[in-house]
Amino acid sequence: MSFSLHGIGVSGGIAIGYAHLTSNARVEVPQYMLDRKYIKDELARFDEAILATRTELETLRNHIPANAPAELSAFLDMHLMFLGDSMIAEVPKRLIRETQCNAEWALAQQMEALVARFEEIDDAYLRSRQEDVVQVVQRVLKALTGHPSHLPLDVDFDSERVLVAHELSPADMIVFKNVHFAAFITDLGGTTSHTAILARSMAMPSVMALHNAHGLIRDHDLLIVDGRDGVVIVNPDESVLAEYRLRQNQWRIDTDKLKRLKTSKSSTLDGVPIELMANIELLDDVDAVKAAGAHGIGLFRSEFLFLNRNDLPTEDEQYASYKAVAEALDGKPVTIRTLDLGADKQAPWGHTMADNPALGLRAIRLCLAEPGLFHTQLRAILRASRHGQVRMLIPMLASFVELQQTLQRIQAAKASLRKDGLKFDDDILIGGMIEVPAAALTAGFFAEQLDFLSIGTNDLIQYTLAIDRADDSVAHLYDPLHPAVLNLIQHTIRAGAKAGKPVSVCGEMAGDPLLTRLLLGLGLRIFSMHPASLLQVKQQVLKAQVGETTPIALKLLKNTDPDRTALLLNRLNG
Ligand code: PEP
Ligand code: MG
Repeated sequence: MSFSLHGIGVSGGIAIGYAHLTSNARVEVPQYMLDRKYIKDELARFDEAILATRTELETLRNHIPANAPAELSAFLDMHLMFLGDSMIAEVPKRLIRETQCNAEWALAQQMEALVARFEEIDDAYLRSRQEDVVQVVQRVLKALTGHPSHLPLDVDFDSERVLVAHELSPADMIVFKNVHFAAFITDLGGTTSHTAILARSMAMPSVMALHNAHGLIRDHDLLIVDGRDGVVIVNPDESVLAEYRLRQNQWRIDTDKLKRLKTSKSSTLDGVPIELMANIELLDDVDAVKAAGAHGIGLFRSEFLFLNRNDLPTEDEQYASYKAVAEALDGKPVTIRTLDLGADKQAPWGHTMADNPALGLRAIRLCLAEPGLFHTQLRAILRASRHGQVRMLIPMLASFVELQQTLQRIQAAKASLRKDGLKFDDDILIGGMIEVPAAALTAGFFAEQLDFLSIGTNDLIQYTLAIDRADDSVAHLYDPLHPAVLNLIQHTIRAGAKAGKPVSVCGEMAGDPLLTRLLLGLGLRIFSMHPASLLQVKQQVLKAQVGETTPIALKLLKNTDPDRTALLLNRLNG
């Protein structure tokens, strides 16, 4: 039966392929009593599940993508070690024998007992290891209940597969970076969730916030994924398939044509130069930055070095990554953002998830609360600063006290490097992200104290409109064109201009070609975006006349009528 599903298109393009369902929901655990004569079979079933899980983990370890963090292997080793421990591999068998319960129930009981023991440990890091126990047990439970395992790295993907998931975390996406599939779709997630941002950076068609795709689609269903319009067509008929194959070809031709713009000068028709920078998550993204002809890196989300691992990257390890990016950019600017963990980017060793993590100990707040962690990163960035044009960017500043404390910490890191006789660029530029309305409204102060500002519109919209950017149930309310948002952007750009400090936008708005002229009209001259959309934005820049965009952009600042918004935007882009 053919049917279509509508969600939010988070990354453009059209993919046609067969569904591959993955599950990361916690497994329902059945409970029943066994007749004594079946105990032996139940014990054998348990042993088989342990063996299957061992094979699965070993296969995963042997198929780690080349660009995945090196620690992924250590992480899998640790899971293998837990799996082999008698606490998981033997004690449940004793429970099966003694209480005649089924294997799943025995294992779940033992997991609860282990978690309770971990809870009593004082050391936060060791306490957090309970997550690993839970993950290993989940795998065994999936093997027992016949569910497919979470990350399908052991599946031989070809370009004809579409990943269908209930939810994917940013950490999952990093692991997928080297696993080829045509598209992915999820039930949960919003357009500027970090998972969506990663999908865009991988230039992979994707649709999120489909609510129940995972429940409705079956393995091997044929899917058309239209990542621009946010549509998924399940088991299309021949005529629909033919139509989408044509559209897919056209999309490929258009993408190829764009490549010609790589070397053209980036300025508007009326001669205003515009800087187009790139956002990256990992060192490997540098190739895409070069292929797009970016002016430099406007945002290096350094926290991705900290995900998918159970320990912290050392100063030397971080230094090596930052240095490699700085050298690869060959003198072009590289803006390294200090750690922005929290909310939807959780490291396994991190603090326990707050009730409201987006408003909790996130980004600079986390760094100021963990001085050792911050100091290590600051030293690593500073040390890398002598290998290129490195800049430092501080995420989620809201208060002046935070800014003062941060600047003091940077001074302290510099002093410690001097003491150790290590070189760095003493004049390194320090910038602040404007992503909290309080910071936007007081942008003048931040502009005076800092060397540059970068507007993180993803969070600025989230915090201005009180819309959780990762929550699919409110994703339709996430509105970059809300006049409150546009006014905060314009106010920040003006504050920067008044203080003589450059201002960029590095949120997803900067990479949306439909918003390029609007941002130009608001006075923006520096855009930073995932490299996959840079040439599309450049195409818009080349066709734009700043003189014409400004009056329409100013009208949008005052407009609250959605129909008129659409009309004005059409006029801007017309
Ligand atoms: C933003 O908030 O707009 C931003 C660029 O930062 P991130 O998406 O990583 O939160
Ligand atoms: Mg942000």
